[in-house]
Order: sequence, then C-alpha cells, then structure tokens
Amino acid sequence: MDEIRGALEQAGAESYFGEDVSQLQHALQSAHLAEREGVGASSIVAALLHDVGHALSGLSEDVAAAGIDGRHEVVGASFLSRFFGASVTAPVRHHVDAKRWLCVREPGYHEGLSQASRLSLELQGGPMDDEEVREFEQRPFWDEAVKLRRFDDRAKVPGLDVPGFEHYESMIAACLEEAS
Ligand code: FE
Repeated sequence: MDEIRGALEQAGAESYFGEDVSQLQHALQSAHLAEREGVGASSIVAALLHDVGHALSGLSEDVAAAGIDGRHEVVGASFLSRFFGASVTAPVRHHVDAKRWLCVREPGYHEGLSQASRLSLELQGGPMDDEEVREFEQRPFWDEAVKLRRFDDRAKVPGLDVPGFEHYESMIAACLEEAS
C-alpha cells in the first residue's frame, strides 16, 4: 500500500501535462468519476492509478510537447502487475489505445479532446485503422479501458473537491487480495 501511495504521490504535485490540475488531482478525480458511475472496485482502482507510469518513467510531463511518447501506460501497467490482476492492469495498459479507438468509434470525440490530448494522440499513433479497431476489441477488458478513458478525459477540473487517497485504500486492499 505504501509503495502504491508513494508512486502516486511522487508525481502528485506536478501539473498534469498541459492541463490546469496536478497529477494527483487528476488521479483522484478519475477515481471519483469512476465511483460515481458505479463501476466495480478494480475499475475504480485502475482509474486512480492509470497514470502512475508518468511518475515512474521519470520523464517530465512535458515530454509530449518535446515530441516524445513515454509509453506511460506500459510502464504503469507493468508496475501495477506486481500487485494487481488484469482487471486493474489491462484497462491501464489500454487506456491510451482506447483514446485512439474512441476517435474512430465515437463521432465528435476527437474534436472534444483537449489540445494537450490531441498533441499526444499524434505521438501515440493517431486514430486507429480498421485492423487496429478489430484487434483492440479482442483484448480482455478493452471496454473497461474505454470507460477509464472517458473518466480520464473528464478528470481535469481545476479546484474540484474530491475524496483523497485514503478513501480508496480499502478498495485497493480488496484488489490486492484478489490478485494474490
Ligand atoms: Fe490520465
């Protein structure tokens, strides 16, 4: 638990890449949206920890502006696989591809992305082609990744008051248990 909390807080104070909220705020808002939507504990935990790879890759949040894709979803998912099963790690691993999928499958989605998110999209491969869409929809928990993506996109509200890390500790513990 301490290690998970530490990883989340490591980048906590840093601003969330081109947005007006901190990384920690972004994580807590994502989890809060997930909980309000009534998804399961593993999806809430995935939302809370989906960007943990940003901190772990040791790359600054401005890397996309410099034209580098740090593959934070892969870094994050492999860190989390030490603690959790696929119901947590798969949505994290696929949440970037979920954005590429939504660009194709949901009319108006691309236009609604923030500028920072559009910039990173290009580095991440842009909207999926038909073959990629088919492949994506075969992956375990791909639909959870799409849900996570929607929370992610909305979790950028400056100054929003949401529950802190402690609120999620029992859910995290339950997911740790499940995986062990
Ligand atoms: Fe995010």
